[in-house]
Amino acid sequence: EAPVVSNFIRNIIDEDIRTGKWGGRVETRFPPEPNGYLHYGHAKSICLNFGLAESYGGACHMRFDDTNPEKEEQEYVDAIIEAVKWLGFEWGEHLYFASDYFDRMHDCALSLIRAGKAYVDSQSAEEMRTNRGTLTEPGKDSPYRNRSVEENIELFARMRAGEFAEGTHILRAKIDMASPNINLRDPAIYRIRHATHHRTGDAWCIYPMYTFAHPIEDAIESITHSVCTLEFEDQRPFYDWLLDALAAAGQFPRPLPQQIEFARLNLTYVVLSKRKLIQLVNEGHVDGWDDPRLPTLIGARRRGFTATGFRRFAERIGVSKADSWIDMSVLEECMRDDLNEAAERRVAVLDPLKLVITNYAEGASELCQAPNHPLKPELGKRDMPFGRELWIEREDFMEEPVKGFHRLYPGNMVRLRYGFVVKCIGCEKDAAGNITAVLAEYMPDSKSGTPGADNYKVKGNLHWVSVAHGYEAEVRIYDRLFAHPHPGQRREGDAPDAERSFLDDINPDSKRIITAYLEPALKDAQPEERFQFERHGYFVADRVDSRPGAPVFNRTVTLKDSWAK
Ligand code: ATP
Ligand code: MG
Ligand code: MG
Repeated sequence: EAPVVSNFIRNIIDEDIRTGKWGGRVETRFPPEPNGYLHYGHAKSICLNFGLAESYGGACHMRFDDTNPEKEEQEYVDAIIEAVKWLGFEWGEHLYFASDYFDRMHDCALSLIRAGKAYVDSQSAEEMRTNRGTLTEPGKDSPYRNRSVEENIELFARMRAGEFAEGTHILRAKIDMASPNINLRDPAIYRIRHATHHRTGDAWCIYPMYTFAHPIEDAIESITHSVCTLEFEDQRPFYDWLLDALAAAGQFPRPLPQQIEFARLNLTYVVLSKRKLIQLVNEGHVDGWDDPRLPTLIGARRRGFTATGFRRFAERIGVSKADSWIDMSVLEECMRDDLNEAAERRVAVLDPLKLVITNYAEGASELCQAPNHPLKPELGKRDMPFGRELWIEREDFMEEPVKGFHRLYPGNMVRLRYGFVVKCIGCEKDAAGNITAVLAEYMPDSKSGTPGADNYKVKGNLHWVSVAHGYEAEVRIYDRLFAHPHPGQRREGDAPDAERSFLDDINPDSKRIITAYLEPALKDAQPEERFQFERHGYFVADRVDSRPGAPVFNRTVTLKDSWAK
């Protein structure tokens, strides 16, 4: 395992351990809202939160922040659980649903009302907006701000009992309408929603606001370090105000959880906003949420990306307080590094052209041996049948070679990797002049692994698949979904009044389906088994469309970065 690199969050935790603030305890949480599929950005948060817990011997809570009744579904809960497990993290008994705390949250709201720190406001939404003020203008107190505790308790009870329509009353914290931080100008904490919740059904018709619910969830679970993205920085004063008020009311013991913000992941060549992902799926630009081109974690899995690769990526990019962009090539390189170590090698011809060995007997065949992994001899070798007719890559033959071309051309000798040295003697064409076959003679004493092999010095080293034994398969050649690093962003050359949408930057060649010839050993590939197809890149047997004995493959990533400028 890589050495732990320190960062500002670890520094805070180290200091808390030194001072004994939490008695040495480290408890974090990953709190997704179950309203969509997790994406690459979430992987950063997951690796960070679960990683901190792992390295400090603490726990990371898997918490569903499901306080919003309208957009949440069990389908997403299941998918999120599967994705976090796939990344290799565990939470033991620490699985929580914020909706289980509705009673406690309601009780906290009552505590605030009793302490004179919350009131029921009956202004219209429009009036509330106007009276909130602006960045430069202070807000105005609501005419309902000084309702008595008794009146507030009664109104809040009637809100809960379902007596009022949505939007007619709202519970607000009573802080300071003149605060320079707009988030402290009496933020709303409970609203009326006559909606059915996916777990609590119709038990409630008032629901807590996210900014009220989240600190309470952390405090209920005794979270020590509540790590979130930078856009919540302005909310921290309310987070602290709320927990302090609730501790004063006897709801929670001190010390109280501490919110720490870090910069979210921004990655080139993808979009990570839920709204845009939904649009890509709903408008059919991709084939569903698990499309290998989509930056969702189920898409990544189907593409053949690995959990180890994501963990390496999270380590490599680190965490910071400053927003920045990470290039997609960094993520791809992490996947290559992992796959290079983990994936066995196989041979596949993706753009087939027939090679006929004219001096090899018709109907005959023999076995060649190919190592499964060049760095891991312990993984052994496999048999590759050789015969008179072989598939080679179309680009490996040139009738009239350009300078520096060392592969097949009339008169040249190359090695057929793990097999024999052959000498090209010409080609066959159809009536239209298209090359239909390449002709060659083989050197019977040149077989790889035999003493004669060393007698031949050739520059070309080509891969091949026997026509009689090869397996014809569907292979999907995936590439980046967007052709531009910042999809939708205006750029030089755009007309001054032209709108650019992220959809305008979709790469038209992000998916190509081909029929390829694979060496016979690949016929038994299991769903999700990953390989390096020599000279081509890393491929995975698709976990959805593969059938026993009939796998189809997805290209995960090329061997080298083809996007580098
Ligand atoms: P979206 O903004 O696309 O709706 P979200 O951030 O609201 O997504 P949540 O379910 O609330 O989605 O996120 C769960 C956790 O993942 C949060 O703690 C959030 O900060 C974190 N997270 C989300 N996106 C990123 C990102 N791009 N980089 C790092 N962490 C992220
Ligand atoms: Mg959210
Ligand atoms: Mg968000």
